[in-house]
Amino acid sequence: MCGIVGVYCNDESLTSKIAYFTLYSLQHRGQESAGIAIADRGSIELHRGMGLVTEVFNENTLTKLKGSSAIGHVRYSTTGESKLENAQPILVKSKAGYLAVGHNGNLVNYPQLRAMLENEGRIFVTNSDTEVIAQLLSSFLMKFDVVESLSLLHEKLIGSFSLTILFNDVLIGFRDALGFRPLCVGETDFGYVIASETCALDAIGAGRVRDVKPGEAVIIREGDAEFVKIAESKRLARCVFEYIYFARPDSVIDGVSVYRARYRMGKILAKESPVDADLVSPVPDSGTTAAIGFSDGSGLPYLEVLIKNRYVGRTFIMPEQRLRELSVQLKMNVVRENVKGKRVVLVDDSIVRGTTSRKIVDMVRRAGAREVHFRVGSPPIIAPCYFGIDMSTREELIASNKSIEEICRVLNADSLAYLSLDGLLKAVGFKRCELCLACLTSRYPVPVPGEVTEPLS
Ligand code: 5GP
Ligand code: MG
Repeated sequence: MCGIVGVYCNDESLTSKIAYFTLYSLQHRGQESAGIAIADRGSIELHRGMGLVTEVFNENTLTKLKGSSAIGHVRYSTTGESKLENAQPILVKSKAGYLAVGHNGNLVNYPQLRAMLENEGRIFVTNSDTEVIAQLLSSFLMKFDVVESLSLLHEKLIGSFSLTILFNDVLIGFRDALGFRPLCVGETDFGYVIASETCALDAIGAGRVRDVKPGEAVIIREGDAEFVKIAESKRLARCVFEYIYFARPDSVIDGVSVYRARYRMGKILAKESPVDADLVSPVPDSGTTAAIGFSDGSGLPYLEVLIKNRYVGRTFIMPEQRLRELSVQLKMNVVRENVKGKRVVLVDDSIVRGTTSRKIVDMVRRAGAREVHFRVGSPPIIAPCYFGIDMSTREELIASNKSIEEICRVLNADSLAYLSLDGLLKAVGFKRCELCLACLTSRYPVPVPGEVTEPLS
């Protein structure tokens, strides 16, 4: 999972700062590393580092990055490999010129593509699938124009990819034909901004916002934006987990407000799985919007029971098991006065491994709740994601191995219910064939080795 941006600005001294502010607004999409690449008189300058956007950049580094076109990236830690070489954007140089790529998504055929390129004698410096994209695109650009090269690139890639690209001083946003990951464009007084989510465009006051359509590229040359259809698909596969958990609730993805979708998830859940209780409370922050929907749908009062430490960022690794057990308590505390003797409904957006949820139920009980009922704003997560969400393996996914009754016992809750798949579809407002639901159905929209491909219906 990652966040990407692209900026064209007619004031060279502002470009890197706009890239910085938009990346800052996408910090929730990745906290592991950040980077900006900027086109500067025939070459591309790159600044990357490990950590948060505010840790990687300062006034000084931003002022040194001068030019009209830039791309930026924030990276989310997926499978290990948390090191600087894998930070993005990735920069390559060929006879065609400089090429920088920022990628949100995951290539399923990365091993095959990398082996193919290595057999041709190419050398890789990272373990990231983005480098394969950069190498392939760079070789196409030596022979073909931008549109032709993007179309050839699209033919080679299997998986999810929203990209921002800097080719010399041409700025490009490109979204795969299934539309797994979001991408949008906004216009400003000074030019254009491309970003993973609309919240980044709002942050810098961009107007006339529109999504980059699945299979479409936006190509910005010297301040002129051109939208070109590059590839087509019989189905779409927008990631439903963007709506459930990942995206910021103030973003609008493909015309659907993330907030409205989450609110409806909670409201429909309340109708599907009502419970006799005294109050509804979210597991903050990600469960908040669904909990408000649940309260409205059930008529139960909404009250905060868990307070999150605002300054808890990345979950740091506790060196010792005894300290590790404390990690949830450090992040969250219970408002005892709100739970004493009460029947509490806790609403969260999702359960992945079940470890956090178990500890939270335990905390609320120990604080004096009479009953603790758990409600989840999405269906059970039963299968891994190969398209960029860090869901790990089936062994670690609690709902992959256990029935809802068994999970309820593990959580030590008085009752447990998940939103139905139909309820989720209603909440988001897309048809099955417009979404990727693989983590909930174990049926994948594109062929993944060892997994079942969903037939087109
Ligand atoms: P669990 O009880 O499964 O251990 O944790 C559930 C919590 O993890 C939920 O509050 C949910 O918002 C959160 N969550 C879901 N997906 C992700 C993810 O990809 N990364 C992180 N850090 N948290 C997640
Ligand atoms: Mg959460």
